Amino acid sequence: MKKRLKIIALVMASVLFISGAVFFVTYKSDFVYIGFEYFARLTRNYKLPQANVEGLSFSSYTLEQLSTRGDVTIDDSAMLINGQYTIPADVKPELVPYGDKQINACMLEALTLMDQHIYELYGESLSVVSAYRSADHQQDVISTSKGDTAAAVGASEHQFGLGIDVGVEGYGGRSFLKTPTGRHVNNHCYKYGFIIRYPLCSFDVTGITYEPWHIRYVGVPHAEIIYKSGMVLEEYIESLSIGDWYEYGGYLISRQHPEAIVLPDHFASCTVSLDNTGYCLVTVEPMVAEFD
Ligand SMILES: [Zn+2]
Repeated sequence: MKKRLKIIALVMASVLFISGAVFFVTYKSDFVYIGFEYFARLTRNYKLPQANVEGLSFSSYTLEQLSTRGDVTIDDSAMLINGQYTIPADVKPELVPYGDKQINACMLEALTLMDQHIYELYGESLSVVSAYRSADHQQDVISTSKGDTAAAVGASEHQFGLGIDVGVEGYGGRSFLKTPTGRHVNNHCYKYGFIIRYPLCSFDVTGITYEPWHIRYVGVPHAEIIYKSGMVLEEYIESLSIGDWYEYGGYLISRQHPEAIVLPDHFASCTVSLDNTGYCLVTVEPMVAEFD
């Protein structure tokens, strides 16, 4: 009799445990994702190697000189915007319409492509809940938000259209992670040049709590380097020594002074972006024959 009771108790405990686990995975999938993400971030510690550029010839230009060249893209993708590096009063973002919102022009192609792939995978589109905000709009957001999820006026990427808040129908904010689309965006947005700008456990550097819905365009391959290194944008920009060349996935990367930008004489593509710390980020795809 005692043995029978023991078996019944064991079966009941197992049923309770399994249904609890099923409930948790089904309805609290955001917590499950966050748990895995916490440990995954601990394993991301990629270090960007320096490039060997001995075989290349270089010339120096000012940013102004480069702005007249058709073969160099100048965009806002490297702009660091936070409480320390606020938006300069004399600099205006390059905005383009996206649905009923406005976004920074540099991300239009990448966002369109990511949305298209998400639709093909999950049959739903990303909704852009918030994109570009004027200073007045940012002030309104601060007045109504709770905790540390809204940056001060002048310290928000939304005011440059570089950071956007995304979700899917019925799931915005942290509940975005309850959807396969939300988890997909968090795991794969770097492939399109986006980062989760305020990742888990980065409050001490960014001053903003975890925002799995706020994606920020930094371009390829920077987003992938940031993802694999476990750094946040502040740390990544800081990690690049001025004038040095780094290599990732066939790209050459360098952080340089805007008055003396050194570029290879021949390249397949080149993007230059002021980083708002007094320097600019240079991203070059060299001619394949010259660099391998
Ligand atoms: Zn945001």
